[in-house]
Amino acid sequence: MSSKDTPPGRGTVAVLGAGLVGLACARALQRAGFQVTVVDRGGPGEGASFGNASHIATASVIPQATPGILRQTINLLRDPTGPLVARPGYVAKHLPWFLRFINNGNPATMKAGSLAMAAMIGKAWDSWLPVLDDIRARHLVKQSGALHVFRSRAALDAAQGSYAFRRDLGVASERLDADAARAIEPTLSAGIGGAMHVPSMGYVTDTLSLSLALAARIEQAGGRIVKATATGLDAKGIQTQDGRIDADLVVLAAGAWSQAFAKQLGVHIPLVSERGYHVMLPRDSSALRMPLLLVERKVAVTPMEKGIRLASMAEFDVPDAKPDHDRAVPVLTGLDGWAKGLDAEPISRWVGPRPSVPDSRPVIGRAPGAPNVLLACGHGHLGLTLAALTGDAITALALGQEPEIDMEAVSPLRFR
Ligand SMILES: Cc1cc2nc3c(=O)[nH]c(=O)nc-3n(C[C@H](O)[C@H](O)[C@H](O)COP(=O)(O)OP(=O)(O)OC[C@H]3O[C@@H](n4cnc5c(N)ncnc54)[C@H](O)[C@@H]3O)c2cc1C
Repeated sequence: MSSKDTPPGRGTVAVLGAGLVGLACARALQRAGFQVTVVDRGGPGEGASFGNASHIATASVIPQATPGILRQTINLLRDPTGPLVARPGYVAKHLPWFLRFINNGNPATMKAGSLAMAAMIGKAWDSWLPVLDDIRARHLVKQSGALHVFRSRAALDAAQGSYAFRRDLGVASERLDADAARAIEPTLSAGIGGAMHVPSMGYVTDTLSLSLALAARIEQAGGRIVKATATGLDAKGIQTQDGRIDADLVVLAAGAWSQAFAKQLGVHIPLVSERGYHVMLPRDSSALRMPLLLVERKVAVTPMEKGIRLASMAEFDVPDAKPDHDRAVPVLTGLDGWAKGLDAEPISRWVGPRPSVPDSRPVIGRAPGAPNVLLACGHGHLGLTLAALTGDAITALALGQEPEIDMEAVSPLRFR
């Protein structure tokens, strides 16, 4: 360990969850002088952080619930080949979450939520780049820009208002006709209606390697990554099946599994498991240069190190339910009308749970009634994008400083 890695001791922190959020928190806390232990029942980065679409999604400043969400949801649910699945028992159990989500689709709440999200997401690159330097992983990230591709001109026309709104929020984009889009991404098919180019977006070429690089840096600097199943969490540490890990501070970063642990503290976080699926196509199946969002199909396409990743689906079900890969097949196939090579035979399939809250903003802050527990969960569709920023905010809280983000917007108290 170099002296650079050992700033003055500030106490111990136990972090529950070695996903990107927990790891980013642990490393930021460690750099600030805390002695960190990260607990996960699996290897680092094997939860939702493993299989996401891998986009640094700077354009995702509009919450999931927008005006018209109820009608859109009903239409999507009626389509047995579409990307939305809601298991009735799960929905019944979490009915207040769904009512709150639908209710958030009013114009005023959507607008206020977008302002709050844009303020955070606008800091995504500035928070990630120093972390990437620290863990020597710049090579894993491409600041490539991305294309939001539309199959129909009419849909592209209809979406212009939402891109103008994003531009007002600081997200630059440019409309491209089909030929102009193909000029920067030649794999796009002749039949597309056009695209929006979002230059600020980017992607991670290998999400697991990113988690492993964070974990390796934590261990190299004297932190511990402990493989154990947590059964409880309180203000003084984490209880695991293999014993207790005591600490001065505890960070809850267990992704879609966080709610049960928060409940042990008497804290209710409206958090559901919104499962997504991906398939990997062989790397040589497509010469894709940059990440795509196939807008009407709701499929993200990413040219990753180990293959082309197609990611989609919102399946509301318990996080550890059996995968229903067959259900994702109609969503993730038949994409040759969008780009060449996307209909190759998959080499692997995956499912994992987004930790989703009704207003699409993460939950970051001290647990009400248990100030030694810091909450870092509920990142929904944006955990990769916002992990480093979350690490900075959690560290500021641990140091008793003011975080650089609006803490009201992410407060656990906002759900009361
Ligand atoms: C299909 C899909 C596409 C996505 N695309 C994007 C994208 O392009 N960009 C983006 O920014 N985000 C994206 N996301 C969202 C992103 O992946 C998540 O928000 C993020 O991974 C959440 O990270 P996390 O660390 O909070 O959770 P996780 O990565 O799920 O980590 C939680 C950890 O807690 C551990 N854990 C749980 N319970 C216990 C226990 N009892 N004991 C010990 N350990 C436990 C788990 O093993 C797990 O490792 C996508 C998600 C999906 C599913």
